[in-house]
Amino acid sequence: MRITRVETFILHVPVTNQQIADSTHQVTHWGVVGAVLRTDTMWSGYGYTGTHGHLATDRLIRDCIGEALAPLVLGEDPRDTGLLWQKLYHTPSIRWVGRAGIVQMALSAVEIALWDLKAKAAEMPLWKLLGGDGGKPVEAYNTDGGWLNWSRQQLVDCARAAVDEGFRGVKLKIGSPDPRDDLDRLAAVREAIGPSVKLMVDANGRWDLPAAIRVGRHLAEYDVYWFEEPMWFDDVGSHAVLARSIATPIALGEQQYSLDAMRSFIEAGAVHFVQPDPTRIGGIGPWMQAADLALAHRLPVVGHAGDMMQVNVQLAFAHPASAMVEYIPWLRTCFEEPATQEGGFMKCPQVPGAGTTLRHDAIERFGVA
Ligand code: MG
Repeated sequence: MRITRVETFILHVPVTNQQIADSTHQVTHWGVVGAVLRTDTMWSGYGYTGTHGHLATDRLIRDCIGEALAPLVLGEDPRDTGLLWQKLYHTPSIRWVGRAGIVQMALSAVEIALWDLKAKAAEMPLWKLLGGDGGKPVEAYNTDGGWLNWSRQQLVDCARAAVDEGFRGVKLKIGSPDPRDDLDRLAAVREAIGPSVKLMVDANGRWDLPAAIRVGRHLAEYDVYWFEEPMWFDDVGSHAVLARSIATPIALGEQQYSLDAMRSFIEAGAVHFVQPDPTRIGGIGPWMQAADLALAHRLPVVGHAGDMMQVNVQLAFAHPASAMVEYIPWLRTCFEEPATQEGGFMKCPQVPGAGTTLRHDAIERFGVA
């Protein structure tokens, strides 16, 4: 099998009919920037990364795929995933400007498309190709109802609705100008959902160490399951101090671009729930390596859904350290086999591939120039 053509796309998909925000930004559309790898067979491979739908930076990712990375995979056998990852990452002209940011997100999109082809050619869903367990329970936790700009009543209503639907975990955004507001909202939601539902909080890197300790010391009062991205994304030392200062476990990883970055946090004892994002860390290969690293430290892996679940569901069924998926259904209408939950558990994908195949009308409906 040889790659004969690389096509690129940018989709901007509306996230909900309401304004949503966390402590750092507002989002109206999810950006899906990626590649379709055509081959000399009946199969095409789809891969993408996730953005906040800003056209100027989405074009940079698209051009990186189309101009810089596509020539490196043309003519190659897409099933050589490890070899091609090395080529994409270590080609000197790429490495000089790469390893993080736009280049690494573009590389992730291409790498996922390679795995999509490899799984299609093997006529297996990705999780099976990776040696996973399709029968294990994979819990879905709901992150689509805890926005920072929503009222306390909206949070309570959404959390109750999620629990009624069967979800056993919900996540709230925190990072308000006055942290007492966050604790007040947290108390209301805990009261509404009762003691047995998991409740997570996510500050999206908003605070410094003193603020994170001050807020973090109260989280145990509400039995918070994890405290996600409390501080600046690259600050290993402060997260290690925080982890030793509060009772609530720390979750992070969505902003980490490399296995090395993940290792720094894990080895420092600065993270308890490891959250690599396949669309940022370099694709399926590095995600699995990060999950292996977590497993070696006996830490659970809960992938971050920059892909809006499609790939993460595959990876959760694939890897023994992972048994939970972040549930955000924003892209459901884009894919041939959208990731689906039932009673709070993810259904195991059955269609061959990585779950990334776009519906024929997705580019027509959501594509932008
Ligand atoms: Mg997060």
